[in-house]
Amino acid sequence: GFRRILIPVDIDEPSSWQIALPTARELARASSAKVTVLTVLRDIEAIAQGVAYSLPGYRVLHDLADARLVSLVAESIPDFPSLETMVTSGTVYTGILDTARAKDIDLIVMASHRPAMKDYLLGSNAAKVARHAKCSVLIVR
Ligand code: ADP
Repeated sequence: GFRRILIPVDIDEPSSWQIALPTARELARASSAKVTVLTVLRDIEAIAQGVAYSLPGYRVLHDLADARLVSLVAESIPDFPSLETMVTSGTVYTGILDTARAKDIDLIVMASHRPAMKDYLLGSNAAKVARHAKCSVLIVR
């Protein structure tokens, strides 16, 4: 079974966690896996908000994102006990791949793309993660 599961979510996009979180919970239960829920703050968002070069400003964004992660996890899978949230910044797919490597993740569970992007069978981040990850990747639809 899987020992360490990573779920990358976009905190502004409910479709990125509504299926992925419950699916990962079931897989984690089956093998008593550790679960990490990750969001990557895009550099461009920080720059747009004018805080990229101010550490206290970044700290605020980071803490807001972590609080958002904690609350969406609590809403989506309230009965799941051992779970870690994590916030990094930079390029989304790089952040996912680096975290997977650093934490020795053996399964990444992620949604395929935003519903609005009807023309894409696989979003750009999902495609890059599926292509380059060293571990298994489950794309949920
Ligand atoms: P789209 O371009 O349609 O948004 P993506 O490939 O970016 O497609 O999104 C697919 C998945 O990528 C999401 O469900 C999520 O798992 C992951 N993802 C997207 N943005 C982020 C982010 N900021 N942080 C972490 N994971 C993300």
